[in-house]
Amino acid sequence: ELKDKTLVVVFGASGDLARKMTFPSLFGLFKDGFLPPKTHIVGYARSDLERKDFEDRLTGGLDMEKESKDKVEEFKKISSYVKGAYDEDDAFKNLEKELQKMADKDFDGESNRVYYLAVPPSQFTSLADKLHKNNYKGTSNRLVIEKPFGKDSDSAKEMMDAITKDGWKQEEVYRIDHFIGDEMARSIMQLRFANELLIDSLFNKDKVSAVLIELKETFGCEGRGGYFDEFGIIRDVLQNHSMQLLTFLAMDKPESLEEDHIRDEKVKVLQSIKPIKNDEAVMGQYTGNGDKPGYLDDESVENKESKTATFGEVVLRIDNDRWSGVPFILKAGKAIEEDALRIVIQFKQAENSLYPSTDPNELVIELYEKKVYFKVNSKKPTMDGGIVRPEMVLDYETKFDGLDAPQPYEFVIREVLKGNQKSFVRQDELEEEWRIFTPLLHYSEGKESARPVEYKYGSNGPKESQEFEKKLGFVVTKDGYELKKIDV
Ligand code: NAP
Repeated sequence: ELKDKTLVVVFGASGDLARKMTFPSLFGLFKDGFLPPKTHIVGYARSDLERKDFEDRLTGGLDMEKESKDKVEEFKKISSYVKGAYDEDDAFKNLEKELQKMADKDFDGESNRVYYLAVPPSQFTSLADKLHKNNYKGTSNRLVIEKPFGKDSDSAKEMMDAITKDGWKQEEVYRIDHFIGDEMARSIMQLRFANELLIDSLFNKDKVSAVLIELKETFGCEGRGGYFDEFGIIRDVLQNHSMQLLTFLAMDKPESLEEDHIRDEKVKVLQSIKPIKNDEAVMGQYTGNGDKPGYLDDESVENKESKTATFGEVVLRIDNDRWSGVPFILKAGKAIEEDALRIVIQFKQAENSLYPSTDPNELVIELYEKKVYFKVNSKKPTMDGGIVRPEMVLDYETKFDGLDAPQPYEFVIREVLKGNQKSFVRQDELEEEWRIFTPLLHYSEGKESARPVEYKYGSNGPKESQEFEKKLGFVVTKDGYELKKIDV
């Protein structure tokens, strides 16, 4: 349940994530009445920010044309800034004094604490340590961290061990993967288990031939090469975000909707997946195209021989009764022709079909466009018939009047406030995700591996990707994935 009298401290308040995501989401919750009635937001960073500078960060991510001026002013009133270091006890003692002052003034001295670390991961452990030592004071204390949680199995374990060694309990640490908060990702549970005989009964190796989970971005890494070059597409997307979607799709029915029952099932799926084989992956890097710079041309990418992949595609095989033999293809790329986050479940053809040459049926979930549709074969509505493959569609925009689905970050921050751990990445889940990807990461970053294959900025990714999908039996059909009118 929501705890009243809450102090939310955002570390790295001068940074990109705080401005783009954390503060706008806190504002979104505030304006819709989803924050606890008594909440105070504290921005904390090393930068010398005047009140006006801080307010600019606080509201810089909002669309001021759309927001109510009064609400924004009220939001400013519940927010303040404290300047300080991330690694000195004195700074945290000073912070504690400020927090206690706020609690005394507005909350009768009581407070629940949420510490949100919007700082580079290099600062996590020192911050966690200092916070536990100096500011672990309220009625409840919660620590929120953002991916990347380590760079491979060992470093992830080291980081988590350091945080819990410093005194934080596992259940007090909230690891955000905001894909868990995506409306469409969350709806996979209901799609499957509230339509069990219609839809979940199709989710198995007898009916499904292949599953594709793809994230495509038209934007490259312009200006963010510093961060990206260290991590690459696998750590940025596949190892965490795509795996969340995979586990929602593939898990068995949980015993109940209780949070650990759901997460137990997700972990079981991961445990049934072997590490990715080095030769079962396509790693790509984009090159320039017209006025669009190639990855290595970008000024923010310092290493001009960088092998960092901006496109990655892998296949995972879930070795259990439900899924054995079905390839789960995970694909993500930057500087690709379209912006899309899409799941395609492709179905097998019936034996002895009366219509053997039809395209396979598909169930498609478009997470950005908020559409779920089946591709069904149907009679072409003409005198002589023939088969076409239109869609049966659930389109959120036309179906849900006044749709205002929560933004992923709003949802997950509210889950922190409510203490719902089910919307976060559990330690064993994280360990399994790393176990699956670490060997491939080490191999592809090692000396013996070849450079990533090339693809042009704005293209559909490397040609090797299409060959890879074909080899795995995924059929890219001629009409693609778009919803469009069919010419009769
Ligand atoms: P950022 O802008 O680079 O850093 C946030 C703040 O941390 C900076 O304003 C700076 O504040 C402080 N800082 C930066 N580098 C530091 C260093 N080397 N040592 C100590 N303090 C440093 O980072 P961000 O993009 O906001 O990301 C924050 C966290 O969220 C990271 O873990 C990132 O991986 C994760 N994340 C970010 C995004 C995104 O869209 N930006 C998306 C998903 C996850 P002061 O100097 O004022 O203290």
